[in-house]
Amino acid sequence: KPVAISQILFTQGFGTRRHCAALIRHGLVSVGGETIEDPQQAFDTAGLVFDVEGQAWPYHEKALILLYKPTGYECSRKPTHHPSVFSLLPEPLRNRDIQPVGRLDEDTTGLLLLTDDGPLQHKLTSPKYHVPKIYQAECKAPIDDAQLKKLVTGVLLEERNPRLAEEPVSAESAELLPDGRLQMALTEGRYHQARRMVAAVGNRVLALHRQRIGALELPADLPVGGWIWLDERQRELAM
Ligand code: URA
Repeated sequence: KPVAISQILFTQGFGTRRHCAALIRHGLVSVGGETIEDPQQAFDTAGLVFDVEGQAWPYHEKALILLYKPTGYECSRKPTHHPSVFSLLPEPLRNRDIQPVGRLDEDTTGLLLLTDDGPLQHKLTSPKYHVPKIYQAECKAPIDDAQLKKLVTGVLLEERNPRLAEEPVSAESAELLPDGRLQMALTEGRYHQARRMVAAVGNRVLALHRQRIGALELPADLPVGGWIWLDERQRELAM
């Protein structure tokens, strides 16, 4: 059913209700090339694209964003040592209640999803659903077959939680890429898991990159630090 344009701006992250109404009254909002004057004018949200200060925004009831995370960014909204990945997103997106779907380390690069869709967040992060995350690691020493085998069979990691410490953690698959990097698929999300697993087999990660979540690949044409909205089809790929 149709929703007032001021309410649309509000839910899409354009600020307080008062600020959204002011944007409209100042003639800064248009739909289909027509400036909207009445904050109460209602629109069908399905497929709606609206312009704010000359920039087009597609309406998304729930946001699902893919970001190519660079090194030197923290996945927290309140970072301690480096800028936040949220600083790479435009303000209306930052204002929404989106959270990273599993955090990447400050120096890890690659595919990061952010969403305000709670059930989706749970589905992608809970080990129960076994969505594989594909990591590529440049390691200090050449990867050998014994290391690949151990990663798949399982290793014990030191954990604060004694129960976790007794639970071996394994890669769903581990292989050597033609460029010499290690590629492995992880379905859990323990703290520094990839790095600690590689350390546990006697090697060391020098650079870590996430290339894929489920069947959703980091788009080849997306620049480092760039982001895109995901559509329904891409959302399905991630599950
Ligand atoms: N495993 C790690 O060690 N670091 C990451 O950022 C992701 C997985």
